[in-house]
Parts: sequence; structure tokens; C-alpha cells
Amino acid sequence: MSELTVIVPCMNEEEAIPLFYDELISKTEFLKGRGIGLNILFIDDGSTDGTVSVVRSLHEKDERVHLISFSRNFGKEAAMYAGLKAADTEYAVIMDADLQDPPALLEEMFSYIDQGYDSVATRRVTRKGEPPIRSFFARRFYKLMRKLSDTEIMDGARDYRLMTRQYIDAVLALSEYNRFTKGIFGWVGYETKWIDFENVDRSAGKTKWSFWKLVIYSIEGITAFSTKPLVMSSLIGIFFCFLAFVMVVFIIVRRLVFGDPVAGWASTVTIIVFLSGVQFFCTGILGQYIAKAYLEVKNRPLYLKNEKNCF
Ligand code: UDP
Ligand code: MG
Repeated sequence: MSELTVIVPCMNEEEAIPLFYDELISKTEFLKGRGIGLNILFIDDGSTDGTVSVVRSLHEKDERVHLISFSRNFGKEAAMYAGLKAADTEYAVIMDADLQDPPALLEEMFSYIDQGYDSVATRRVTRKGEPPIRSFFARRFYKLMRKLSDTEIMDGARDYRLMTRQYIDAVLALSEYNRFTKGIFGWVGYETKWIDFENVDRSAGKTKWSFWKLVIYSIEGITAFSTKPLVMSSLIGIFFCFLAFVMVVFIIVRRLVFGDPVAGWASTVTIIVFLSGVQFFCTGILGQYIAKAYLEVKNRPLYLKNEKNCF
């Protein structure tokens, strides 16, 4: 009999988990008909609320519920990796605890697996209910990402994805420290079916993503899946060398023709300030990649388990 593992990254989701569990159970009745067993694997990503005890009480009444608990907050990326790694089943799906990834879609997702797809991915076609500034920047990010990276990353793509064994193993083979799962999903390839759905509001609790966390996530995404910024900074350098050459010629000619009227302090300072700005910008880009390489070389574990809260 084949089985499905539902991986649920949780950080301070004590209010959302019971709602999630009820909804998941009621929407996965169809699995019985297909002869697929259900496992629910919560990943506690360093919660400071009652998440662990809520999951423990679910485990007491339903032995299909399991928990991996981290020693501290390692981020959703690490939680998803831990979940996929622990899932030893034929199928796995990643779902948020806040019901923003509707379990009701699962049945349709399985129908595509029947058709031979290796993964069934979801994306939001609307972002209603989300702050407009956040939607605006999110859209800009995906546009930029599509330009910069050869790996396809869909606008509105969620981490909610049903995967077959072959696909899970491929994702796990990319064990990089700087994880950007949305990019990894695209990178591994295989046949993927996309399902669109309307945005749903969070069931309970608050979003764990601040605006700055999202900005950092975007930089992570770009540097993890594209080296084009490095090319761009070289091009900027070449452009300014050329500009400097033209200016030198201009200054020499002016000196020969008009003598040397001492003027142009303001323009000189402006140029110096501007160019140092450009230099800092380019060094910054370089720094991003070196930092990534540095963290990668250290080869630290992506997460640490707190064994006494794992069951
Ligand atoms: N999450 C996590 N670790 C984090 C941040 C979030 O495991 O550091 C989980 C969170 O509990 C939720 C999912 O990732 O199940 C998505 O988070 P959230 O709903 O806050 O994000 P949003 O839907 O607002 O993008
Ligand atoms: Mg959410």
C-alpha cells in the first residue's frame, strides 16, 4: 500500500494547527478509496508557543501524526528540507499550517499524478487580502527573477506541491545550505502540472514574514539561482571605464584649446561620489556571492533536532 506524507512547517501555530488537522482529515477521505495511507508530519521550527504540546495531543489520539522539533528557528526552508528527508513514503506534499494551502485541492492534485506527472504544483492567481505594497514588491521580484535566472519561477508559486518519490529524491539531492526551494523545484525539472487557486486568508494567528524578511528572502532567491548580477557589475565597470576615457580626452582637449581655468570642483566631487557609490554597489554584489560560498564551504547542518520533542 502506498502512503502520503503531509509535511507541515510550523512556527508558533498553536491556534492554526487544530483547524488545519480537522480540515485535512475531512478533505483526505478520498485517499482511503485509492488505498493510500496518510501520515501527517509537523515540523516545529523553533516555536515558542504551545505548538509542540498541541501536536503531542493530536499524536495521542491519532498515531498518524508525527513531529520533528528543531532546537531553534531555522526557517521554513530548513523545515521543508527536514520534512522531505524524513518522509519515506511514495508521495509527499508540503502545506502551510494556516490553511492558505487548501487541502481541498489534494484530490485534484492526485488526479494529475494518475496521468503520469511527477509533481503537481500550485500558484495563487490573486493576492487579495494581502497588503498592496507586499503584492507590488512580490510581483516585481518574480518579474526580476524571470529575467535574471534560467530557472523558471512562477509568479504566485506556493511551496504547496505534491511530489512523487523520484521528485522528492531529486529535491533532496540538492543539499545546499542556502536553500531557495521555489528555485530548486524548477531546477530539478520533471513533468509538473500547475494548478491555480484564489488566495485564502490565514485561518488563525499572524504571518511570520515581515517585510524585511521577505526582502532578504528575495536576495537569497536571486543569488542562489543566478550569477547575472556579477555580470551586470562587470558591465557597469566597463561602462564607467569607457566614460572615464572619454572624459580624459575631453579634459586634455579643453586644456590645449582653452588653457586651464580652475573650475569644475562641484562636478568632480559629484563624479567621485557617484563612482564610489557604484563601486560599493558592485562590491556588495560580489560580497553576497562570497558570503554564500563561505556558508556553503562551512557545510553546517541545515537544522538541529530536539530529540525529546520528536515522535
Ligand atoms: N514558517 C516556518 N518557519 C519560519 C516562518 C514560517 O516554519 O521561520 C511556517 C509557518 O508556520 C507557516 C508557513 O511557514 O506554516 C508559512 O508562513 P506564513 O503563513 O507566516 O507566511 P505567509 O503565508 O504570510 O507568506
Ligand atoms: Mg500563510
